[in-house]
Amino acid sequence: MQIKQIKEKVFSNQRLNREEGLWLLQNGSLLDLAEMAEHRRYFHNLAPKVTFVIDSNPNYTNICNIDCIFCAFYRHEGDADAYTYTVDEMIERFKKAEARGVRTVLLQGGVNPALPLEYYTEMIRRTRAEVPKIHPHFFSTSEIIGMANVSGLSVPAVLEKLKEAGLNSIPGGGAEVLSDKVKKKISSKKGTSEDWLSVMREAHKLGYKTTSTMMYGHLESDEDIVEHLDITRALQDEYHGFTAFIPWSFKPGNTPLEKIIHTYASSTRYLQMIAFARIYLDNFPHIQASWFSEGKKTGQMALHFGADDFGGTLEEENVHASANFVHTTTIKEMVDLIRDAGFTPVERDTLYHTYGEFAEGEYPASILNSERLHQSVDASIIMPTIPLVALGNG
Ligand code: SF4
Repeated sequence: MQIKQIKEKVFSNQRLNREEGLWLLQNGSLLDLAEMAEHRRYFHNLAPKVTFVIDSNPNYTNICNIDCIFCAFYRHEGDADAYTYTVDEMIERFKKAEARGVRTVLLQGGVNPALPLEYYTEMIRRTRAEVPKIHPHFFSTSEIIGMANVSGLSVPAVLEKLKEAGLNSIPGGGAEVLSDKVKKKISSKKGTSEDWLSVMREAHKLGYKTTSTMMYGHLESDEDIVEHLDITRALQDEYHGFTAFIPWSFKPGNTPLEKIIHTYASSTRYLQMIAFARIYLDNFPHIQASWFSEGKKTGQMALHFGADDFGGTLEEENVHASANFVHTTTIKEMVDLIRDAGFTPVERDTLYHTYGEFAEGEYPASILNSERLHQSVDASIIMPTIPLVALGNG
């Protein structure tokens, strides 16, 4: 195989097969990848605009019984720093975030068997009713499977209940690398790739929009990455329920996997992942670059490797912080980073509907409420010190 053949297919908007994908991932130069990724990016999104969302990423519980070896966030029930917030406490937190201009809350937690399904449905219902400017983007596939196990309902029935309560989008976390070989090693209690895919499939059938993620840079091979993208692309062909693909690299700090993987994947590998995903996932409208997980400069570079979205402002984030990995930004800096990379910043919501773009010198109105987002958040909501609250077992 030669790069010429691959380029001919990409520039004539044809799909690459697995074999071609693997060859490209292993043999394509970074500049060839960038050129093809840019072609695909402008095929989907013609204008040189980059979207972002003003969001927060809190966690309602860190108690989890899945024990993934790449995770520094979870605790077991009874651990000194285990916590679970009540719905009241979370709604208060959302109200404060709303007042600071946050428009999306990406809410996830551990898989906590003490929480009944009603805890989750109440959280959604009350968010919709009491914090109407915030779009709930709640609960990963692992939590949804956990809800099914606790309630005795099927996954589709749980998704129906969450939808009735007001949920219409869910985050794509929990995929890691969709290869059972890898999953057995890093998250043996989390289920198979098909478990993640089947929750997503059922969600898409019911009209939910979701993102799709991939955490690479640990025990996976190039073949595993191609497998991940291939089965994700096949699912997208079925219902077109994915809004965006979001890759990030494994952060080893404080995790059991740190004993085997000591270092971060390189920025070069990240740019390769972004570009390769844009080329291979020909049916995904958006590819998200991350200022947060890979650093601001690398995030800006990724906008020239096929990404058209810069993610969220992440007012609160605890999962990467647990691995000693902390980056922060402001709304102003987010807009400036996109502009300095050569694009027009456009604010969006969870479902990628845009609010408006910002010309030189213009910023979202919410910037007035939020000079430095991270400094304006109560310390107690960033690193929880509140003791475990008993929620009952439903
Ligand atoms: S990644 Fe999620 S499911 Fe796995 S241990 Fe951490 S909190 Fe639990």
